[in-house]
Amino acid sequence: MKIIQDWPIYKKKIETFKQTEKTEDKQLIPETDKKKTTGIGKFTTVREFSNATSQPINIVLAELMKNGIFTSLNEKIDFDTAWLIGQALGLEISLAETGEEITDSDKLKTILASEKKESMIARPPVIVVMGHVDHGKTKLLDAIRKTNVVAGEAGGITQHIGAYQVVRNNRLLTFIDTPGHEAFTAMRSRGAKVADIAILVVAADDGVMPQTTEAYRIISAAKIPFVVAINKIDKPEANIDKTKQQLSNKLNILSEDWGGKIICAPVSAITGAGITELLDMVLLLTDTEVENIKANPNAKASGTVIESHIDKGTGPVVTILVQNGTLKIGDHLTSNNIFIGRVRNLYNYKNETITKAEPSMPIQIIGLKKLPQVGDILEVGEGEKIKFKKIDTPSQPDTNKESSEQKDEAKKINIIIKSDVLGSAEAIEESLEKLNCPEVKIKIVHKGLGNISESDVKTAEAANAQILGFNVKASPVIQELAREKNIKISLYRIIYNLINDIKSQMQLLIAPTLKRIDLGKVNVTNIFKTEKSFQIVGGKVISGQVENDSSVEIMRGKVIIDTGKLTRLQSGRQDVKSVPVGSECGIQYEGKPIIIKGDILNIYKEEKTIKKL
Ligand code: GDP
Repeated sequence: MKIIQDWPIYKKKIETFKQTEKTEDKQLIPETDKKKTTGIGKFTTVREFSNATSQPINIVLAELMKNGIFTSLNEKIDFDTAWLIGQALGLEISLAETGEEITDSDKLKTILASEKKESMIARPPVIVVMGHVDHGKTKLLDAIRKTNVVAGEAGGITQHIGAYQVVRNNRLLTFIDTPGHEAFTAMRSRGAKVADIAILVVAADDGVMPQTTEAYRIISAAKIPFVVAINKIDKPEANIDKTKQQLSNKLNILSEDWGGKIICAPVSAITGAGITELLDMVLLLTDTEVENIKANPNAKASGTVIESHIDKGTGPVVTILVQNGTLKIGDHLTSNNIFIGRVRNLYNYKNETITKAEPSMPIQIIGLKKLPQVGDILEVGEGEKIKFKKIDTPSQPDTNKESSEQKDEAKKINIIIKSDVLGSAEAIEESLEKLNCPEVKIKIVHKGLGNISESDVKTAEAANAQILGFNVKASPVIQELAREKNIKISLYRIIYNLINDIKSQMQLLIAPTLKRIDLGKVNVTNIFKTEKSFQIVGGKVISGQVENDSSVEIMRGKVIIDTGKLTRLQSGRQDVKSVPVGSECGIQYEGKPIIIKGDILNIYKEEKTIKKL
């Protein structure tokens, strides 16, 4: 099944659309009942979408195409894409309850549902922080970490993985950090559910912005409870009431103190004001959700991958959030029922070695043989054993400096993909892999989420790779660093352009193949002139015909003694283009002047053909 996951292009477009909207207009609120809502499954073909929404197929295809998604009627699009196309076409799309495919989150649900009620005990809540860019998500996560690090380790903790745990009122809370919104979106589009509670951050000096709406939509779709953190209240221009007003007007989020149900906590991630209160509110929400925030610590472990990459030397490094059971060193892990390796080492978020990880604990696993992807569910078990190809690490870079003489060996284009969501990275990887041909191979040495970083440039340097960014940025500092190190960074917003550029690069690397076409043979009867680098000889065409501007093989007896060029051809003192069999001709031969009477000249041409990709 092919799933189109390029929807960030849509997102951008719709954000612009949203920005131009009037404040009073509630059109984009997901729960609005203004329009007829069409229920769409998690994955739907373009044809099904068109039928369900009564939109002409060509309109749907055109809308997709406008945004760089080239698809056919029977290809599948995921729900997010469907929702976004719906928005662009003025339709309201909701997730249909029926006919959904079995997803990873369903698998986890099944695992949890099969547990006996009495074995399920409360586990720490898993919290995700979402909101508009620059509204302070990162700072807020920093502030929470600083104010509430696990007892005895205040300050100075370097977080090693994209999640951490804090203690408040003797209770543990797990925060999922990097890359926040993007990872969450990627996981959600794969159907995996990791967070129990969301914190929707809105800056009090900026109010509800397009990504606030988007984050709220994602939170609503995931059906998880949330609190709003009204951030940056230390700023003179902060206006808490105005922010609440906008939350109410634009998103139908009514704050508790305004008679609504949603907790809106004013905070400052810079001064720390309101942070502990915010955590208390999260705990309060956890208590109301207590029945849903449970797991069986005695079961075989299962959890969702929240980060994965290949490390120099170490191989696959995978961060998972344990969601049920207890994971131990030595456990065998499977993904989709396929054995992917044994847990050799376990690290907590402080990079301390641990021997086991209980529910809601984020941990890093070393020792796996295969790199699972963000959003994959890992389970302890034996699974099916299949042979994996050795995973190359950036420490063993491929050199793509083979000279053109090494014709049999394929040339390589090493690539690092950075994108805003994993889905796009996968779509790009899949499209690039399809371009592979015997002459030129594309190798993805690393793929990751987020803007291009210094470490990407370093990996590119080590692996002799170029960096392709899709819907991400490279700061001027990074661009400068890349220039210094001679690393190519290319940024794209449309996958089609990215693919075409790589295709052009591959085309340039395909060496032309030379095809020899034998024209004729000349028996040399006269040597008219012999100079340092050329000769003028005469002879008779004994087979085929002779053409000007061709190649010459000098044959003496049965041996070819040298080759050169035919640069001038005469017949009866006239310059001619060709001379037929049986005729006499004069030939200017460029090459070592070694032709003697009685030699046979094999005249041929070489046609260059370049394989078109
Ligand atoms: P993100 O894009 O949502 O992760 O936002 P950041 O956490 O990177 O914050 C964006 C900018 O806002 C940074 O310059 C922060 O220093 C600033 N910022 C974040 N929280 C606060 C706050 O509570 N008060 C003030 N004055 N600035 C803040």
